[in-house]
Amino acid sequence: MTAKSRKPHILIIYTGGTIGMIENPDTHSLEPFDFTHLIDNVPKIKMLDYDIDNIQFDPPIDSSDMSHVHWVEIARHIEENFDRFDGFVVLHGTDTMAYTASALSFMLENLHKPVIITGSQLPIGEVRTDGEENLITALQIAAATNANGDPMVQEVAILFEDYLWRGNRSTKMSADKFNAFKSNNYPSLAKIGLGIHFDEDALWRVQAKRPLNVQYGIDTAVMFIDLNPGITESTLRHQLATPGIKGIVLKTFGAGNAPTAQWFTNAIREAVEKGIVILNVTQCVNGGVDARRYMTGNLLADTGVISGHDITCEAAITKMMYLFGLGLAPKDVEQYLSRSICGEVTI
Ligand code: ASP
Repeated sequence: MTAKSRKPHILIIYTGGTIGMIENPDTHSLEPFDFTHLIDNVPKIKMLDYDIDNIQFDPPIDSSDMSHVHWVEIARHIEENFDRFDGFVVLHGTDTMAYTASALSFMLENLHKPVIITGSQLPIGEVRTDGEENLITALQIAAATNANGDPMVQEVAILFEDYLWRGNRSTKMSADKFNAFKSNNYPSLAKIGLGIHFDEDALWRVQAKRPLNVQYGIDTAVMFIDLNPGITESTLRHQLATPGIKGIVLKTFGAGNAPTAQWFTNAIREAVEKGIVILNVTQCVNGGVDARRYMTGNLLADTGVISGHDITCEAAITKMMYLFGLGLAPKDVEQYLSRSICGEVTI
């Protein structure tokens, strides 16, 4: 049997999330449940005729409990099994799915196989579940090849309902719609209808195929500061003085604008001079930072804050965790924040 004619070999990594949850009869809350229950609810999987193996988190978790420790665990499973499988499907809760997708996109350097993350809004055991379709489509995408027999998807992506999105461009947009995810500043990688229609121009391709290299060092000494009209000097200074903090994603207004009061720019400048890396990311879901467009943004840029352009908040914070995790000096972190590493930002 030639390599191309053998069955696709896919590894499912089940971390938890609504897709595998069942209702606790006492509290009536949804709680993570085990993989056997999940897979028993999708008998159609056998029709795919794939070789499917699985690994499950013990215990499976609600993704609100997801942390860098779990990202390391997922990445380790992928690295340990990388050569044996054609693709990977990660089942994950939707709440922090975009953070995990972004983090893995940085950690899995030189990735050239599909890592498809999916989950669902309704548990797999419910009659109207979206979980069955999402799981089956994710498996098909993980197995898809192009005309050369290479994996169609060679990056971390989120499959949800009608679309495949680049992982580090995605955001959870809805707490109840089946189309829960969107990449507001980048086209979909595939549209799901009667068929799966890939946009080959949008898909990520590594320049030169090198062996997978996983970066496990994730530094969590980073935080968001979210601006609001009326923010006070004491609130801002209190946050900037958080002990041990190395990087801040500053969520600003519109095209990257912030208050022009002297106390504000002074506080930000002092933090930058102390060596804290500050990345300016807009609170808007669409568009990005255009630091020189308004005087308000210009003043902020002059303090030494870096423009995040059109990066998502999820990609911004995880990119900082990854860069500081590499042990880079603040100046080098700033350099990498100003360029795209794996398609996360348009410069
Ligand atoms: N709370 C759930 C989770 O993120 C929500 C979901 O999976 O849709 O694990």
